[in-house]
Amino acid sequence: MAAPIVPGPSSVRPPGTEATEVRPGLTLTVLGCDGSWPGPAGAGSGYLVSGGGTSLMIDAGPGTFANLQRHVDPASVDAVIITHHHPDHWSDLYAFDTQARLALHGRRVPLFAPAGLGDRARLDRTPTLDWRVVTDGDTVRVGGLSCSFHRTDHVFETLAVRIDGPARAVGYSADSGPGWSLAELGTDLDLVLCEATYTSEHEGTAGHMSGRQAGEQARRAGARKLVITHRWPTIDAASVVAEAEAAFGAPVEQASIGKEFVA
Ligand SMILES: [Zn+2]
Repeated sequence: MAAPIVPGPSSVRPPGTEATEVRPGLTLTVLGCDGSWPGPAGAGSGYLVSGGGTSLMIDAGPGTFANLQRHVDPASVDAVIITHHHPDHWSDLYAFDTQARLALHGRRVPLFAPAGLGDRARLDRTPTLDWRVVTDGDTVRVGGLSCSFHRTDHVFETLAVRIDGPARAVGYSADSGPGWSLAELGTDLDLVLCEATYTSEHEGTAGHMSGRQAGEQARRAGARKLVITHRWPTIDAASVVAEAEAAFGAPVEQASIGKEFVA
């Protein structure tokens, strides 16, 4: 499909909301990072990526809309990206939509997602969300950021995303098994956010990756920095990090709610 262009934030923000500070790098803020279901006091997948004067909410799992408000006014989010149909990545679209009806005064927020999600969520006709279908190979521009989508190894059409700012690039694996290569997002990434759902003894039991597999993938892709995410709440965090570091060959960070990473 033709790459849709979303205008820069200055043309769409309502009066009274602040423009995001323009910085050369990209900031990734974790809104939620639990795999498949939220654990105690946890939240499903959701991230805020800011740079080039633009803010994107990437995935909107359960609990992430509450956490978004700790960092920004939701009305300042320029666009939303949902990577796939599993509800641990989108169920807070209901909260986003409800608040936006009150806060946006009729303005619609561009929402990029694989085909069929609007219909599945029954949010395809809401006045606040401007659904735009994306698929493998698409690139879209939102203000100062460029987003490229690549299909992963997962049960539904699942789209990893590469985000390029003015001077830095971040890659997010979304959910994937090991049958997809992180290098599809490029071999020049400043920061990679890769799913590592469990430890190596669980490999092959679900369409996900272990810490070992995530570390190996990131090393092969030449990632400068690796952050792992989407750990099942029943899996020990330190064990996943330890095997990811052994495979990556450098320190690895585990995503946690509220943590900020700068690329
Ligand atoms: Zn998931």
